[in-house]
Amino acid sequence: MRFFVAMFSHETNTFSTIPTDRRQFEARDLRYGGELLEAYRGTGTCLGGMIDAAGAHGVTLVPSLAAAASPAGRVTADFYEATTRRILDDLRGAGRLDGVLLDLHGAMVPEGLEDGEGDLLRAVRATVGSAMPVAVTLDFHANLSQELVRHATLLHGYKTYPHVDMDARGREATKRLLDVVLKRCRPTVAWRQPPLLPPIAGQLTARGPMRRLYDRAAEMERDPRVVTISIFAGFPLADIRDAGLSVYVATDGDPGLADRLADELATMAWAHRGEFLHTAPPPGEAVARALAADGRPVVLADIADNTGGGAAGDTTEILRELLRVGARPATVACIWDAEAVQACARAGVGATVTVDVGGKVDPSHGAPVRVTGRVRTLGDGRFVHKGPMLRGLEGRLGPTAVLDVNDLKIILISLRWQTLDPEMLRVVGVDPAAEKILVVKSSVHYRAAFEPLAHAIIEVDAPGLSSSNLARFTFKHVRRPIFPLDDF
Ligand SMILES: [Zn+2]
Repeated sequence: MRFFVAMFSHETNTFSTIPTDRRQFEARDLRYGGELLEAYRGTGTCLGGMIDAAGAHGVTLVPSLAAAASPAGRVTADFYEATTRRILDDLRGAGRLDGVLLDLHGAMVPEGLEDGEGDLLRAVRATVGSAMPVAVTLDFHANLSQELVRHATLLHGYKTYPHVDMDARGREATKRLLDVVLKRCRPTVAWRQPPLLPPIAGQLTARGPMRRLYDRAAEMERDPRVVTISIFAGFPLADIRDAGLSVYVATDGDPGLADRLADELATMAWAHRGEFLHTAPPPGEAVARALAADGRPVVLADIADNTGGGAAGDTTEILRELLRVGARPATVACIWDAEAVQACARAGVGATVTVDVGGKVDPSHGAPVRVTGRVRTLGDGRFVHKGPMLRGLEGRLGPTAVLDVNDLKIILISLRWQTLDPEMLRVVGVDPAAEKILVVKSSVHYRAAFEPLAHAIIEVDAPGLSSSNLARFTFKHVRRPIFPLDDF
């Protein structure tokens, strides 16, 4: 049994001015052929799960490529086209195949296109023919399209946010693909796209409407006629027609059942739409509440400047407030500012420097902050995720510096990376448990690893491109009317 495998993953924030070109993929992950099996084996990722399940079931994987970049603006046309061409060439050159496994995101917007994955799937389908089983894992934030549904045999979306089930979905996709190849299963699919654009911070699966939906889906999946169910919360900051929540149900040769279950879940999502709305206090109020708390650390989540949602990762409004009130001991993790890192590196560990920090990408989200502090540490930014998310996967922050301003530590990084693992602090010499206030630039993912060590969590409504206040954005392409942009 031989399955082709490839990963091409990007979450595109169409409001971002940072283009996602080849360099951005090289900075995160771009590897070809057998190397991808070595890099992902044993990791808490879809590829890790696929590799694991293939091994357990005697399937030989034919690796093509793995390409992933930090969420930002549109993927450049030349990189998108070259990568797609490479996947198609590898498919043609792969020899006899029994199935195709793709690890995609579902919210990739290349230049000149709205629906990267739909376009890729159409090309893959045209290359392998209508009879070839094609299984795809997708992020919880996928914006599902007709094209994507039509050209895949089965889709498997993450069921958790924070995404702690990626390897489980990779295993599931591989096993189900095997079932299809061996004719143990004949998928019939239904999907629904209610007019719903849930803001990111309202999508977590620990509680609220997504929990309710996935609890009901888990009951449905106990029916042996149900193959798999995914409820995609969608990525609202890709201003494309298909952005938003969608429901995908696959049954075994029972299209009527797929339709009924998809209708029930879509109706349920719509009925609870108001619960997706999200509010948080502004920086002044959030910092005051953190200082008044009777324990430590208090995590201040900078939900609107999450690089994992395509924000710059360099906004400074919370930092400015911490400096204003003299909060300490505190850490801001992390600000993307390679220039400031270089200034610290030139001065050296122990030196006192004055630098303009952050605020360099988009002036509408706040200006740089001038600080004078001591260079506490310098580093190469390499670390390994300890989990629960991305366990075992190498992370790269690029050259780092920790600037200490009267015990307010500012972690400066050169590559954009969401603050989702406390290891990112430890690797630069900061003990997260010792701080009174910890600022993390993350919308929801930080919860997986920071909740267990936090005394309290306060979400902050500061400026940024991953804001859950969708009224701050001018949408032009998403289908209308849609909740909450329009009244219903
Ligand atoms: Zn996601």
